[in-house]
Amino acid sequence: MKKEKYSFKSESKQLLNLMIHSLYSNKEIFLRELISNASDAIEKSKFISMSQKKFFSYEKKYEIKIYLDKKDKKITIKDNGIGMRKEEVIKNLGTIAKSGTKDFIKSIEKNKNNDFIGKFGVGFYSAFIVAKKVYVNTLSMYEKTTHNSVMWKSYGDGKYSIEKSKKNDVGTDVILFLKDSEKNILNNTIIKDIIKKYSDHINIPIKIQEYNEKEKIYEWKKINSAESLWTLDKKKISTDKYINFYKYITKDNNEPITWSHNKVEGKIEYTILLYIPSKSPWDIWNREKKTGLKLYINKVYIMDNVEQFLPNYLRFVKGIIDTKDLPLNVSREILQEHSDIQTIKKTITKKILYVIKNIEKSKYINFWKEFGSIIKEGIAEDITNKNLISELLLFSSIKTNNENVYLSLHEYLNNMEKSQKNIYFITSDSYESAKNNPHLEFFKEKKIDVLILHERIDEWMMNYLTEFKGIKFKSVNKFDESLHDTTNKKNKKILETTKKTKKIIKKIEKILKNKIKKVHLTQKFSKTPAALTTDVNDMSTQMAKLFSAAGQKVPEIKYILEINPEHELIKNIFKISDEKNFAKWIKVIFDQAILNEKGSLPIPSKFIKRINSLLINSFLKIK
Ligand code: ADP
Ligand code: MG
Repeated sequence: MKKEKYSFKSESKQLLNLMIHSLYSNKEIFLRELISNASDAIEKSKFISMSQKKFFSYEKKYEIKIYLDKKDKKITIKDNGIGMRKEEVIKNLGTIAKSGTKDFIKSIEKNKNNDFIGKFGVGFYSAFIVAKKVYVNTLSMYEKTTHNSVMWKSYGDGKYSIEKSKKNDVGTDVILFLKDSEKNILNNTIIKDIIKKYSDHINIPIKIQEYNEKEKIYEWKKINSAESLWTLDKKKISTDKYINFYKYITKDNNEPITWSHNKVEGKIEYTILLYIPSKSPWDIWNREKKTGLKLYINKVYIMDNVEQFLPNYLRFVKGIIDTKDLPLNVSREILQEHSDIQTIKKTITKKILYVIKNIEKSKYINFWKEFGSIIKEGIAEDITNKNLISELLLFSSIKTNNENVYLSLHEYLNNMEKSQKNIYFITSDSYESAKNNPHLEFFKEKKIDVLILHERIDEWMMNYLTEFKGIKFKSVNKFDESLHDTTNKKNKKILETTKKTKKIIKKIEKILKNKIKKVHLTQKFSKTPAALTTDVNDMSTQMAKLFSAAGQKVPEIKYILEINPEHELIKNIFKISDEKNFAKWIKVIFDQAILNEKGSLPIPSKFIKRINSLLINSFLKIK
């Protein structure tokens, strides 16, 4: 093979410069990245040789060796992992803006301070932070007998070359020719510290040559503890180790809120280490994206993002599961159909829900802000755990009087008024519009708290959340006979439908005949002339909005028009004898109620016209 020359895609060079520049204060992470790649390559090789024993032998001593060459100012990271064929070298090392790097660049643009950078997975190209030239000499395990090894060379200047190389052992050597300014890194103590700091949890030995004074020879010494963290005794794992492991498996730069580490025994035995992150990834709503646990079988890494162990509404949970009781050649399809997996999923789900329930209050608010709307999906999705999930819910309410101050359902029940029989809630597009909804007047006056729900998912969730601890939920947007209490003397007088009012109601119903179901007198409002409710079994306004936002046709809702006969405006309207004028006023009142309920009118110009003509009339009277 002749030496072949390639160049990167055009923007790559700029990206590389940007990365090198912003990582400079944290340059030691290049070693973490290269060790992580070496360890991935070894995990892949382990897996292939174990699952295809016929073709590959598994007697190898897997290890990562780091050579420091002071004379030539070189560092070599050598692994005996899977290696790469020529096409793989081109595919894997030929583009800079791989996923990790892209996310990274995005973060630099957003976040100007530097301290987060050390924890970011930035990949192979971080080698150029310290190296002026990088060689990759690699022999794929599939080319062991053909000896088709390749050498990749680049100055990080937008070009690279590939040629045939000499390499007899399977694996990859990454050779860094250090920049003159970086040669002080060629120091055993420095390298050992970096490995301890970032790569201690890697469960493959990372070795470095040390001089043995007594024997007068160099020998390879293991630097990291090289154990699979989850196999260790909980008591022996420090908080730091748990956190570092989290960052390693997730590439998340934030610390997790909490974690849970358990060995579960039963028909299938397994160990789980589950983390609750503190920040939700920006693409958590991307349904195409696979999320899930990392699967190990007897400490051998099998695959990432195995979603079969988690219900969808817990897709933000990260961690690993390790079991001896599944075959190495397990596939996603097998997992999907395996009945034991369902049992494991159930156990894991319960476990996580309890872990979440036990998050300290001060941290829980943060958790809720990040993941609350995802947890809400569980109310509909997971009937068996509905009660447990209900206990995790937080709401703002009339009484908390702030969008960001929450209360749990337990707290709501504890604060209920003596006579109160239901848990009341309102759904709306936004907190502000819910808070000012006329339906709340009545509850404010009676000092009955109402939960304020204003997220897209809420209306849908409330279809499934019908009661809590035996107490029923009731929407204040729905017509509720029990609120029109006539046992009270004052109410009785207001709501009494005399012959005269009966006639007026009939008249109004005729004017609005296609638009409403019926007219009902109410004593519920103090400041509002009229408002709409939907009948108990009819679709709510919010639900209709959700459907039409999803592109579905919804039949027009027929509302119940609740009129407040005590309101000055209504009192006066009821006195109007001119039919045409009366109809005009009623239409205005109805449109107002629609505005309050929906936030918009089908034909705003008609409403404006009517209002204007009424305003002009009032001026004429003043004159
Ligand atoms: P990532 O590790 O996130 O995939 P990197 O930039 O670190 O991104 O590496 C790019 C790819 O190059 C890896 O996915 C892998 O396929 C390949 N690679 C890098 N280092 C090695 C190695 N030591 N052995 C085999 N393949 C490697
Ligand atoms: Mg990598």
